[in-house]
Order: sequence, then C-alpha cells, then structure tokens
Amino acid sequence: MPRIEINYRACMKTGQCYYLHPEAFRKREDDHPEPTEPRFPESMREALEEAADLCPTESITVADD
Ligand code: SF4
Repeated sequence: MPRIEINYRACMKTGQCYYLHPEAFRKREDDHPEPTEPRFPESMREALEEAADLCPTESITVADD
C-alpha cells in the first residue's frame, strides 16, 4: 500500500497538494501539508502520483514498503 513522504525542508507551502487532493493531504497549522492517512489504498496511487508530479518543489514522494 502506498504512503506519502514529504520533504519539509524543500516544501514551500504552495498548497497545490492539499487543494487538489484533499483526500490525501491536509494543511497543518504551520501551512505545511501532512498525509491524511499513514497508508492509502492501491486505488489512490494514481492520485498520489499526480500530486507528486504537480508539486513545484518535488517535495512529495510516493513510497512503498
Ligand atoms: S505542493 Fe509541494 S510545495 Fe506545495 S505545499 Fe504541497 S508539498 Fe509543499
């Protein structure tokens, strides 16, 4: 099952991830995103990868383990 890793040193808080994919990301009080779940169903992989592709700072990685 895929999970999301966020590079908080690179993230510029632009918000695309949580505005475009609120099912997978939510905004923290400091405006950084966080995943809504520790693991996501396989059916959401495409949406997670789209979010990773759209991130302007390449801060999102879709990981498997
Ligand atoms: S799209 Fe990328 S840079 Fe923007 S808030 Fe999300 S992780 Fe951060």
